[in-house]
Amino acid sequence: MLKDLFPKKKRYATVAPNPSARDKVPEGLMEKCKQCGQILFAKELDKQVKTCPHCGYHFTLTAQERIQVTLDEGSFEEFDANLVSGDPLHFPDYSARVERSRQATGLADAVVTGAGTIGGFPVVVGVMDSRFIMGSMGSVVGEKLTRAIEQAIERSVPVIIFSVSGGARMQEGIFSLMQMAKISTALARLAQSRLLYISVLTHPTTGGVTASFAMQGDVNISEPGATIGFAGRRIIEQTIRQKLPDEFQTAEFVLEHGMIDQVVHRKDLRALLATLLSLHAKGGEWSGR
Ligand SMILES: [Zn+2]
Repeated sequence: MLKDLFPKKKRYATVAPNPSARDKVPEGLMEKCKQCGQILFAKELDKQVKTCPHCGYHFTLTAQERIQVTLDEGSFEEFDANLVSGDPLHFPDYSARVERSRQATGLADAVVTGAGTIGGFPVVVGVMDSRFIMGSMGSVVGEKLTRAIEQAIERSVPVIIFSVSGGARMQEGIFSLMQMAKISTALARLAQSRLLYISVLTHPTTGGVTASFAMQGDVNISEPGATIGFAGRRIIEQTIRQKLPDEFQTAEFVLEHGMIDQVVHRKDLRALLATLLSLHAKGGEWSGR
């Protein structure tokens, strides 16, 4: 028989099945896309600035990663790295939770601030980190952002804040709510000094952060697919007794409704920020500042 001349060779059968082989893949080598399920190599993922090349899903960045992909290499100088929060309400488990977040993230609180350059243009940045108690805004986040804005005024440079937050930190009660007014006041002084403020909203930006500095940029930019909102969907639906559309509170939806200026893929973000900073710098020259 002709087909006997080409016997099927069981090439794989000679290799003993090794169920533990998968476990031997070094941790962090691959990651599964949370949106489309594709398996992605970490190296490839890094090249794509942690976005999925198949579906465009944006993975969460830590504050350290955000600084690394945004600022010019070696330009970052951190402010107030050791500012830590008290426990003004003696809220149950709060101190322990802060300590656990500190251990897990290596951060003192949910925001990192400092100065650096983007495309050679000096800037002051604030970068929130969702790993630290959901990026909630307590007195340390408020104080660090306020001091950073004041530094920007002193140095006469623009401010960029990358938001990711579950909102105000309830464990600090009114002390966290008053940060909204404090940061907003500092931003008003920045505007009086005719300095640019760019707000970059990332997934998710909600609550008191959306209700204050995240929406107060001269330019408000969001990453694709980010959830942006104030109150949660269920609360709004119960209050207004209406069903909300599925895409409600996505970056694309709030763009369409005029709340933000642009939705930008992370791969294009650094270049856009550099362009905005360069336009602002030129504006400064023209106005004789
Ligand atoms: Zn994907």
